[in-house]
Amino acid sequence: MKKQKDIHAEYMVKAINLAKRSVAKGGGPFGAVIVKDGVIVAQGSNCVTLNNDPTAHAEVITIRKACKKLQTFDLSGCEIYTSCEPCPMCLSAIYWAHIDKIYYGCTKDDAKDIGFDDSFIYDQIDLKPEKRSIPAANILRDQALGAFRLWDSKEDKTEY
Ligand SMILES: [Zn+2]
Repeated sequence: MKKQKDIHAEYMVKAINLAKRSVAKGGGPFGAVIVKDGVIVAQGSNCVTLNNDPTAHAEVITIRKACKKLQTFDLSGCEIYTSCEPCPMCLSAIYWAHIDKIYYGCTKDDAKDIGFDDSFIYDQIDLKPEKRSIPAANILRDQALGAFRLWDSKEDKTEY
């Protein structure tokens, strides 16, 4: 029987190899694998430039595939192996998906060193919305709250 540590390394090597293959085919150098009960349910790599989709990070792509395969929006019981520490968008997606644990290879500082400055966005989150480099303005709140009131009073909603 394989040691637990070897299994983690095996999945991470797979994520790293996906990242390397992605570079070869014109994508960004990122790969990810989602595992449930010792079985790989989805794998993916960065397709931002290939798909003209700024949200097509390896983790998001892999979460979408896993959800489609498992027919759920809740990936509780799954773990993600990603070749690099998740950016704020992917970290959020991982939280929304309720993934149990994250294993990552490169750090966000490693990513910064080759031009992917996730730390900049992490820093932006701490600022007040109007102080961020992309300013955010709060408008029509009362009207917008109408959608929330509909949700709040809906009895047959699917909560997530
Ligand atoms: Zn990301």
